[in-house]
Amino acid sequence: SAPLLEVRDLHVWFDLPQGRVHALRGLDVTVGAGEGLGLVGESGCGKTTAILAMMGLLPPSATVAGQVLLNGENILAKGEASVRRHRWTDLAMVFQGAMNAFSPVATVGAQIAEPMRLHRVAEGKQATARVRELLELVGIHPDKASRYPHEFSGGMRQRAAIAMALACEPKVLLADEPTTALDVIVQAQVLDLLDRLRTELGLAVVLVTHDLPVVGRVCGRAAVMYAGRVAENADIGDLHLRPGHPYSRALFSGGAIPGAPPRLDEEWPGCAFAPRCEHARDRCHTEAPRLVPLGARQSSACHLAASIAGGTA
Ligand code: SF4
Repeated sequence: SAPLLEVRDLHVWFDLPQGRVHALRGLDVTVGAGEGLGLVGESGCGKTTAILAMMGLLPPSATVAGQVLLNGENILAKGEASVRRHRWTDLAMVFQGAMNAFSPVATVGAQIAEPMRLHRVAEGKQATARVRELLELVGIHPDKASRYPHEFSGGMRQRAAIAMALACEPKVLLADEPTTALDVIVQAQVLDLLDRLRTELGLAVVLVTHDLPVVGRVCGRAAVMYAGRVAENADIGDLHLRPGHPYSRALFSGGAIPGAPPRLDEEWPGCAFAPRCEHARDRCHTEAPRLVPLGARQSSACHLAASIAGGTA
């Protein structure tokens, strides 16, 4: 059967006065129900652009091409309006720094109820009851629905933002650095919450982060992104033990990677990582590697993938 969410050859570019910035260059990822997928990589690799494209939240200067298939249906096919129809009801998002998710002038409960009203999921007493349920689900006492956002701690606000994202019972939760602004203990609690929701509700969770230990707490797999594409897609354990791409090897070994990612307003014929890769050879500078399977659950976009994973390169 088709995976719950499948992204195929997704491109995003921005035509700016100074030229074209090609931020996403053919992203391919899949996520099943109840599965967690990390999107990891250095800043500027396209992680956030990818989930904003899936949510239809990119600015008008962006052009999006490719497919985002939800249960086999391409939600990009009919343009912005069709993406909007799926927003919050099928795909929902939790942003970095939940402070911005809430307006200071309305109660948390009223704001969690808002998407339900907008999408005609529930109104009145039914919505109130559902808000209480959602707050309990994320570990907040339901009576706190009548409080204002400034009366919540950072961790509670992030939980409430997750409750709001779940208001219309989405199948996929996209979380962009959801714990960055929080201290370590609260961060762990929010990640445990995401992990519990994934298993209890069968949610597909796509977690964008540059923080690798964060990924492992919620996700069994990760797509390592580099310069707008997937460099490697694998189980977290394999990314640690037998990575199939020099970039993931460097990232997961925790060492500093000399050099910087390429500028996205430039084009190049070969492998985007070649200028920083100690294994680069002539072919790497002229021919772009495609993402090819290394095993049942691992794929890598490197000409030397097999020997990298096998430890012979
Ligand atoms: Fe390095 Fe070549 Fe593999 Fe790119 S294709 S990661 S340059 S070995």
